[in-house]
Amino acid sequence: MLRRWIFVTVLCASMLCCGCSEQIAESSAIDETSAANEETKTTRDLFAMDTYMCLTAYGENGEAGITAAENCIQDLDARLSTGNASSEIAQLNANGTGTLSEDTCAILQEALTLQRETDGAFNPLMYPIMQAWGFPTQEYRIPDASELQELLLLTDPENMQFSPETGTVSFSVSGMELDLGGIAKGYTSDAVMDCFRSSDVTSGMVSLGGNVQTIGTKPDGSLWRVAIQHPDKEKDFLGVLETKDCAVITSGGYERYFEENGVRYHHIMDPATGRPADSDLLSVTIVSPNGILADGLSTALFVMGLEQATAYWQSHAETFDAVFYTTDETLYVTAGIQDCFSANYPCEIIQEETKP
Ligand code: ADP
Ligand code: MG
Repeated sequence: MLRRWIFVTVLCASMLCCGCSEQIAESSAIDETSAANEETKTTRDLFAMDTYMCLTAYGENGEAGITAAENCIQDLDARLSTGNASSEIAQLNANGTGTLSEDTCAILQEALTLQRETDGAFNPLMYPIMQAWGFPTQEYRIPDASELQELLLLTDPENMQFSPETGTVSFSVSGMELDLGGIAKGYTSDAVMDCFRSSDVTSGMVSLGGNVQTIGTKPDGSLWRVAIQHPDKEKDFLGVLETKDCAVITSGGYERYFEENGVRYHHIMDPATGRPADSDLLSVTIVSPNGILADGLSTALFVMGLEQATAYWQSHAETFDAVFYTTDETLYVTAGIQDCFSANYPCEIIQEETKP
């Protein structure tokens, strides 16, 4: 189920972002320009971070930019993977102490900032809980309340000592484990954009399992068109966003889950309960120039649910925009992107709070 959804999301995102957007009527003039630029378009598909990825770069430096980006992705994957016993994270988790590299430190710092700013909705210490539900091994089970109560004691960031200067981390409670899976792909897509920039690629995009980040505009100067997957309808989009220099990152309970006795258990945990977040949101898309922020917030706002997520956006509207789709099938878009989002469904605009 997971693979199918990821594939569909990537396909949709890349179809629209790589310029081959047959599903959307575009003027023939734009099509001609796009065709002319096909010659200088370089694409590469790869599988890393448990995800299908698609890289696209335009211009004569495209090949060099993509190769630099691929090396960077593989390097980050080797450092961050919880499942690879030799990664920095797995070593730290096994030993209860360790020294992190610069990249991993930067991710952990951002994760801890988000943990504070989201009142704990984002929590990078959920790995013992993820394991209890069987997500890393896909040997799914439903832990009972007392098991979850015990495991929640392992998720308090107060019990982690971290020095960003030296990169040292240690846990003061045995069994604590780090999981940067809720934020790592956003950091990675930021890093891909950095690789493109240093290779003088000024137009390109990356799709990491449907999480899209773009640099510049398309070569013909038009905006990238990013489709947002409908969480309930495999072949449908909630809408299409026109954007440049932006990350568009989605989290949803439909992405990774198992079912037992007709109940769906997904992979985004509520750190307050240790259970899959009982959210009235089916999907949360964050739009921001900052990929790591977008990834962390897509997870956190999903956990918060519509009301709190709306309030969070209203107090942080300068840093991101969002698209929400709820369990009662309502589509919401924040005011900052209302003019560049073409909704496929009736949609409500979330306005900034008017200050008294
Ligand atoms: P995906 O990585 O599937 O695109 P997310 O970005 O929402 O989706 O990240 C979900 C992953 O984040 C989970 O697989 C788990 O590793 C981790 N995670 C789960 N719940 C939380 C949470 N409340 N805060 C931070 N990370 C979480
Ligand atoms: Mg995320």
